Amino acid sequence: MSWLKKILPTITNVVKKNIPEGLWSKCPKCESTLYEEELKQLTYVCPNCDHHMRISARVRLESFLDVDGQEEIAPNLVAVDPLKFKDQKKYKDRYLQAQKNTGEKDALVVKKGTLNGMSVVVAAFEFKFMGGSMGSVVGEKFVRAAQESIRTNSPLICFSA
Ligand SMILES: [Zn+2]
Repeated sequence: MSWLKKILPTITNVVKKNIPEGLWSKCPKCESTLYEEELKQLTYVCPNCDHHMRISARVRLESFLDVDGQEEIAPNLVAVDPLKFKDQKKYKDRYLQAQKNTGEKDALVVKKGTLNGMSVVVAAFEFKFMGGSMGSVVGEKFVRAAQESIRTNSPLICFSA
């Protein structure tokens, strides 16, 4: 039994009032309230029911690569919307909202680093960023990932969404 299970009934009300959003998560399967830091250490597998929760692209890359030597590729690329596209909403508004909701600049995060000491380039799609859909920035970042992979003669690994 985790330390959390033992103390949870007594702190639940305190948590709701005093702990900022984001420190606690609820398991979508068993509805346990889980401490975010503990979940991170468990790579987002519920300790109560073994449910595998969705994780962000950034968390996936951080947990996949060796801790030391991670370097993000093209972290600041953003779309310019040359078509001034609009459906029910302006693309620009959707894009800015996705950035705000995810904390990411676009739907693909790319890093180079090592995996058990072997050099690799890794890309991960962020589903919460407009479903991980492919726009100009995703295309450009993916090409840069492939180019870095070729340049360093290292594998390119991609987590799709
Ligand atoms: Zn659970």
